[in-house]
Amino acid sequence: MKEAIHPKYNQTTVKCNCGNEFVTGTTNESIHVEICSKCHPFYTGTQKANVARGRIDKFNRRYGIKDEQ
Ligand SMILES: [Zn+2]
Repeated sequence: MKEAIHPKYNQTTVKCNCGNEFVTGTTNESIHVEICSKCHPFYTGTQKANVARGRIDKFNRRYGIKDEQ
């Protein structure tokens, strides 16, 4: 039996363009995103982000967030 075979999984700070920062688990050392839960139109209530919709979907897929709309 081998020990310590699990891949490295760290906690890191993700920085968003809106200035929000949050911590998440990742195998990367640092992450910079263009949109987050603080500036996501679903949370802010604005509808201006149709253009950013693709980015949001990409973001949600990357972090395994389910679209609950
Ligand atoms: Zn943001």
